[in-house]
Amino acid sequence: MTSPPSWHPHLWHPTTQVAHSEPPLRAVRGEGALLELDDGRRLIDGISGWWVMLHGHAERAIAAAVARQASTLEQVIFANFRHPGAEALAERLSALSGLERLFFSDNGSTAVEVAIKIAWQWWHNQGISRPQLIAFDGAYHGDTFGAMAVGERSLFSAPFAPLLFDVARAPWPATWWGDDAVEAREAAALARLEQLLEQPTAAVILEPLVQGASGMAMVRPAFLRQVEQRVRAAGALLIADEVLTGFGRCGELFACRQAGIRPDLMALSKGLTGGFLPMGVTLASETIYRGFIDEEPSHTLFHGHSFTANPLGCAAALASLDLLEASPERHRGMEARHRPYLETLVGHRLLRRPRLLGCIAAFDLAVDNPGYLNPVGRQLQRLLLEQGVFLRPLGEVVYLLPPLCINDDQLAHCYAAIAGALEHI
Ligand SMILES: *Cc1c(COP(=O)(O)O)cnc(C)c1O
Repeated sequence: MTSPPSWHPHLWHPTTQVAHSEPPLRAVRGEGALLELDDGRRLIDGISGWWVMLHGHAERAIAAAVARQASTLEQVIFANFRHPGAEALAERLSALSGLERLFFSDNGSTAVEVAIKIAWQWWHNQGISRPQLIAFDGAYHGDTFGAMAVGERSLFSAPFAPLLFDVARAPWPATWWGDDAVEAREAAALARLEQLLEQPTAAVILEPLVQGASGMAMVRPAFLRQVEQRVRAAGALLIADEVLTGFGRCGELFACRQAGIRPDLMALSKGLTGGFLPMGVTLASETIYRGFIDEEPSHTLFHGHSFTANPLGCAAALASLDLLEASPERHRGMEARHRPYLETLVGHRLLRRPRLLGCIAAFDLAVDNPGYLNPVGRQLQRLLLEQGVFLRPLGEVVYLLPPLCINDDQLAHCYAAIAGALEHI
């Protein structure tokens, strides 16, 4: 018998209140959709790491590419050097996104920070004052200061409120199966956006098609096209935060492409390296890039991280892209695989607002006090663990975001476990 899990004396875990959480599980191995714990238990990883792992844990081709790169060139200062991996990744992501320039950083938050700084400085370099930034209600763009500022003010950012810059906000008209009032909400959101855009605006930032952290809040593609039209008419820049949605999570490789919008700046991370290494990128149009190139030193983008364009990250990202491009039916087909299972849950007394987009299936649990702190999510998590399934509900929002390698039996087991757990709530 192993002793019950306890807290490590020297670790500090992210977004975890020790006073009312279970001690973290101890993972020792990953393979495909499965995580193996030190007591031998195996769990289906129903949320792909923290939305980062794409193809499967310890995917062999990516592991091999990282190993090869590690014994070839592990790191080089990117202010003075370039290297083949960075070139190849920039060429491929530019071709896929339609944005010509790629700036590297280390994670999703920094990819967003860089997008905001580029948008802001692009106007500044031209001597034009456009002091307003616009974001959407419910937005989540990361935990660093700039990313927090554009995100919805919440429990997460409350202690820092006085340190966060002001951002104007438009409503996010999320929708779900059987929603018959979405058009009115979209019209109200667009009217508010138009009103806000009367003020000189540097940029509008959004999570295309689905807001992740605020509860898998999905909007219709046509709404995003209407937003883009308003942003263009006002001459502002459009920033797409595809940190979650990129690399096939919504069905197509990028949510912007899928929705038919063309942003000026795009932030990518999470699935970028297939979940192997932390890396973020900010893609920008050539027009934006040109706004930083002249004899005036202060027009430089003075931003850079020690590990910029880390060659191991580039190798992982290239290997991951190879896999995505070799089998596009895997990401395109996830929605159709989820659908029949989600349909069987519809009608359960506790289930509200079922919704599905690409790899992401979600619903709300009917509770009296919705929100991130609602304990029903933790209760469901415990029940699912007993069935060998790991999920991490966002308060009362339950979602499945499995890796592309999940097989039919594993997917069926996840849904059966959810259905079973709902009977105990
Ligand atoms: C996770 C996330 C971020 C932050 O990425 P980190 O790598 O956690 O810093 C930013 N934007 C969106 C949409 C995200 O889902």
